[in-house]
Amino acid sequence: MARPEAELMRIHDMATLEQVVKGCTACGLRAGCRGVVFGDGNPSARLMLIGEGPGADEDRLGRPFVGRAGQLLDRILAACGFDRQRHVYIANIVKCRPPGNRTPTPEERAACLPNLRAQMWLVQPVIVVLLGSTALQALVDPAARISRARGQWIVRDGVWYMPTYHPAALLRNPALKRECWHDFKKVIDKYRELVDPAHVAPHYPPGAEGPAPAADRRRVPAGEEPWAAGSAAAAGSAGGPVAGAAGAAAEEAAATREPEGGTPPAGSRDRVPPGDSVPSGNGVPPGDGVHQLNLFDQAGGEGGSRR
Ligand code: SF4
Repeated sequence: MARPEAELMRIHDMATLEQVVKGCTACGLRAGCRGVVFGDGNPSARLMLIGEGPGADEDRLGRPFVGRAGQLLDRILAACGFDRQRHVYIANIVKCRPPGNRTPTPEERAACLPNLRAQMWLVQPVIVVLLGSTALQALVDPAARISRARGQWIVRDGVWYMPTYHPAALLRNPALKRECWHDFKKVIDKYRELVDPAHVAPHYPPGAEGPAPAADRRRVPAGEEPWAAGSAAAAGSAGGPVAGAAGAAAEEAAATREPEGGTPPAGSRDRVPPGDSVPSGNGVPPGDGVHQLNLFDQAGGEGGSRR
């Protein structure tokens, strides 16, 4: 059974809320997973990251973002000067793994939202990074598309929301990494403005030039995103966690299609949540994505999760 939202909002500490949510059976997802994956990080952080839901590794280990996508997220955070246990709190829209890593249904998202709202009520973030279309649609606009909304601040009730690509989308399409880095540079800027003017980001010092305009994005050298393992920029910091238009919908669906002959086993592939990718021809020179994918593979290897 789910607790009424008003009751959840009366819980005053994260440990108690976690115990309550771990007993949640408000939707059918609980019957098909090992357990509730509640959240991770610092409940007092001013910066919150919200993803879609647990994958296989998260379900097994009970923590969000611990698979290949999670390892990439940790490298992104390190490049931004954010430590998972100190600067951020991480949660998902749904707390139980959808079977087959499918996208959670609107009903499942709605059933779990009171749990997330209670987490957000305790954390009181001033900045929220929405990782992927499911988080964007669940918290901002059910019709929004991540490829169009990413990189633009949305302010609701005094909270600054930054939509960007889910790390799993970056694994599937490494050409998106540079746009994601631009988005995270905006997050660093806002963090310095609202939380800590002295925040140190290894690859984005205070006063550095802001995100490049769209027309300049081609000038970013391939593989220079600071979390790209093996890049010159990554050498000093990226230790990892270790270390509604039908046409638009069809366009985005085509962008997430598996390449012919390249489909890994279902249990190990990082599926891109629908809408998290962009069409080819998005301004990325041919070959850049392949180069970055190779760099990532050297660092991440194959894992058992898409998130
Ligand atoms: S996904 Fe959320 S609402 Fe559904 S059972 Fe798990 S915790 Fe409860």
